[in-house]
Amino acid sequence: MNRRQPLIAANWKMNGNRASVEALLRAFSADCPTEATEVLICPPFVHIPLAAELLADSALTLGAQNLSEYAGGAYTGEVAADMLRDYGCAYVIIGHSERRYVLGESDETVANKFCLALESGLKPVLCLGERLQDREGEQTEQVLSEQLDSIICKAGVAGFANAVVAYEPVWAIGTGRSATPEQAQEAHEFIRNWLARYDAEAAAQLRILYGGSVTADNAAGLFAGSDVDGGLIGGASLRADEFLAICQAAG
Ligand code: PEP
Repeated sequence: MNRRQPLIAANWKMNGNRASVEALLRAFSADCPTEATEVLICPPFVHIPLAAELLADSALTLGAQNLSEYAGGAYTGEVAADMLRDYGCAYVIIGHSERRYVLGESDETVANKFCLALESGLKPVLCLGERLQDREGEQTEQVLSEQLDSIICKAGVAGFANAVVAYEPVWAIGTGRSATPEQAQEAHEFIRNWLARYDAEAAAQLRILYGGSVTADNAAGLFAGSDVDGGLIGGASLRADEFLAICQAAG
């Protein structure tokens, strides 16, 4: 029987200033339960040095929301994986739907970033998920398997040994309309089974997070699924009480 440690990850997106970063991280460091659950905070790039300083003596883990598809050099405005490592990041979110569908990242770009993250010692939090039209057209499994296969083709299934997957139905992100616990468990089970076709052990060990309008009220129900190993939390991670309650629900 595999015991996967729950992980709750905060995706602050493009929100916050120095004062709010400091206030939230002080509250999280003081109160987040970290004995049983890993808690990961992903601020915007510009706040990473401040967050690293504030989290230096805390049990919380630091991550980034993105990284460059290139290792370094003449790419104005980009941030390389090694720079994130240098500032204490352990994880990086990759393939978030806002990057895929709003900022135009292809499966190939996502796969390149996945590989670069691993090469630099960062653990990718790989986001996958179907849009509303995919779900309504009964294409959810097709979308998830294609997104997984594009990573497997480039990184091999072995890459998942040091990664986390976040199932994030696009229609549930920031909409207040979460997946039901049954829909979440069904998608997570599909993802795990799909990977198990390549490597049963890697699939059994993989942590799969649910993301999409998780709140203090619905967290426990969503995390109850046997293949749900925690959550990737957007809006609710910007409110200390709400985020703490979600962390407690995961433990
Ligand atoms: C997200 O952006 O990854 C997310 C899950 O957002 P929210 O919790 O606000 O739906």
